[in-house]
Amino acid sequence: MKWEENVRRVIPYTPGEQPKKAGVIKLNTNENPYPPAPGVAKASAVLDAGKFRLYPEFSEQTELAKALAARYHIGTDQLFIGVGSDDVLSMAFLTFFHSDRPVFFPDITYSFYDVWADVYGIPYERKALDADFQICMADYCQPNGGVIFPNPNAPTGVLMPLDKVEEIVAANRDVVVIVDEAYIDFGGTSALPLIDKYDNLLVVQTFSKSRSMAGMRIGYAMGQPALIRYLNDVKYSVNSYTMNMAALELGVSAVRDEAYFGACCRRIIETRERAEEELAKRGFVFPKSYANFIFASHQAIPAQEIFERLKENDIYVRWWDKERINNYLRITIGTDEQMEALYRALDEICG
Ligand SMILES: *Cc1c(COP(=O)(O)O)cnc(C)c1O
Repeated sequence: MKWEENVRRVIPYTPGEQPKKAGVIKLNTNENPYPPAPGVAKASAVLDAGKFRLYPEFSEQTELAKALAARYHIGTDQLFIGVGSDDVLSMAFLTFFHSDRPVFFPDITYSFYDVWADVYGIPYERKALDADFQICMADYCQPNGGVIFPNPNAPTGVLMPLDKVEEIVAANRDVVVIVDEAYIDFGGTSALPLIDKYDNLLVVQTFSKSRSMAGMRIGYAMGQPALIRYLNDVKYSVNSYTMNMAALELGVSAVRDEAYFGACCRRIIETRERAEEELAKRGFVFPKSYANFIFASHQAIPAQEIFERLKENDIYVRWWDKERINNYLRITIGTDEQMEALYRALDEICG
């Protein structure tokens, strides 16, 4: 068809499967197995549908913005809120990666980065992680059009120490460096304190993992006001009202319940530490994880086979048929009961 010549053709990102059938143990999309803070359910029960006829407030003027700014000790002018961090990151690609030089990111990383680069026509180079899945510093000290990496990295769970993060930011003062901290609350140290020192640093976080609100779609970026202004200019040139009223209201209850948040993260870390022991006992090897998942490879049985056998047992994990990582499974940390079911199934498969 002739019109296809004028179509912007892309190969989209493929998220992990959301099974329709009941009873599946879902360890495949890094969702939190625990419910959001109790205040979220309460606030949701008293949502006033009458208000929905109005447009929402501008995100940066909402209670959610104020609650986040207070929680992270920044000004609301240092905060950008979006529809999950995918929206925030996509806007950040569109805003900050506008150079003829390639944007740098790791070869093994969040598989949305090359999709955004492709859809926006941004040149990029994937920099190979070393054998231990660590970033090679020298790779990020060459001329580039911007840098992005998750910390901890996905899907490896490997954490880069803050001094190395700072080294990358400091070595790239002429471009924007984005640190995607989707998993930072599970034991990492955030780069947030560095935003005062570096005007080229954008730190991105999300409610989807540590705050158990993937379905509500809330993400945010933090950086100096100039960065945030540029982000807002682009966002308001695409869609002024991205955040819906319900998400803006319910997010507040999640941010304000610090005790629940802390307890929930600690619980996942404890289950993860136990899972590392249990998986090691069963012949798996993996880098130490600082996220709510473990990236594990079995020493004898191919990952694809374990993936398929687990699926037959209604236990879903993530496996990619991709170079360098096709013998690994990414296993999300579930509840202790879910993990016990996983270990029993692995005893059958690997035992
Ligand atoms: C989950 C994830 C995100 C985005 O999640 P949202 O639900 O859009 O907030 C971003 N980056 C990485 C590395 C992730 O794993």
